Amino acid sequence: MDELTAPRLEMSRARYQQNLAALQRQLAPSQLMVVMKDDAYGHGVEWAVDAAVEAATPVALFGGYDVSTALRIRARAPQARIFVWVTSPDDEIRTALASDIDLGVGTLPYLRRIVAVARDVGTTARVHLKIDTGLHRNGVRPEDWPAFIAEAMAAQNDGVIDVVGVWSHLAEASDAEDDDAAAEFARAVASLESAGARPVARHLTASAASWWRPELRGSVSRIGAFCYGVRSADGPEIPGVAPVAALRAPVIDVLDDHVVISVGALHGIPSTIAGASVGTPGGARVLRHVGAVTSAVEVWPGARQGQDVTVFGPGADGESDATALAERIDTVGEEILTRLTPRVRRVVTD
Ligand SMILES: *Cc1c(COP(=O)(O)O)cnc(C)c1O
Repeated sequence: MDELTAPRLEMSRARYQQNLAALQRQLAPSQLMVVMKDDAYGHGVEWAVDAAVEAATPVALFGGYDVSTALRIRARAPQARIFVWVTSPDDEIRTALASDIDLGVGTLPYLRRIVAVARDVGTTARVHLKIDTGLHRNGVRPEDWPAFIAEAMAAQNDGVIDVVGVWSHLAEASDAEDDDAAAEFARAVASLESAGARPVARHLTASAASWWRPELRGSVSRIGAFCYGVRSADGPEIPGVAPVAALRAPVIDVLDDHVVISVGALHGIPSTIAGASVGTPGGARVLRHVGAVTSAVEVWPGARQGQDVTVFGPGADGESDATALAERIDTVGEEILTRLTPRVRRVVTD
């Protein structure tokens, strides 16, 4: 398939910057950390970092998930603080320290490895200690917290680490559970402070809780989905925030009762979204079938080759956003975006 007929993910730089501005306004004084895992939720890291650092209020904090993503961010944002939270092998810790990247630490063995690498390199590692507030994914259990912070403070006194942050992740299953988690988090911060640490970055909320539950925000809010305008499944619209990306595919054939468009399951769209309505020049039409590399859409009067069909995106007169499509098949909007393969051309517009 050539350039002209390939499906494309069109992304608006202006829309992205407007979303960041809306988030900065809503979250202040909590600082926005822009999370870029999964290649910036399928949008592409590089242009998004450029747009974030060139925004009216420049973004100074990024979340990279892993070291390789953090290095891509660092290449475009030499001044930013970049936070990585996956447990990384020693060679990656070494690389991260050389690039002034902050490390999230959720286990004692990992803390010890960071300390050993920092000692070996002769540097001070910036770390954010993670308390497990109930998600049980990673993080130090409250009963193990005192021993963990004692060891961290000893390493800090040796100048090998600097405890710059404390963090956790909310389950967001119910408000009551999140309240309990926030109380646990506050206790962890208090005991860390009484051990002598001054963790400037205190963060536990992601998009939904940061936006809707201001009382849970710390000094930093880690935001992924809402930056890209991806709302929560079954969640409300977010005032001032809208989808950044639209998936468009040209018509490559017009038949009696349907047209063929140039996007299919091998581009990463789930075949189970068949039945959704999509945006066409003739208005909303049904996506009848998703094939391997093409799909069938109900025809409209005057349909012709080269016209664009919008599978999802802002301004589409159909299901309209990735989350709406996701809701049809019981998943989340992020998955619709991150599944799109490199065969889908990424195009950034102003
Ligand atoms: C993905 C992730 C986030 C961002 O979550 P969103 O709901 O996309 O805002 C924040 N923190 C951690 C640890 C994550 O893994």
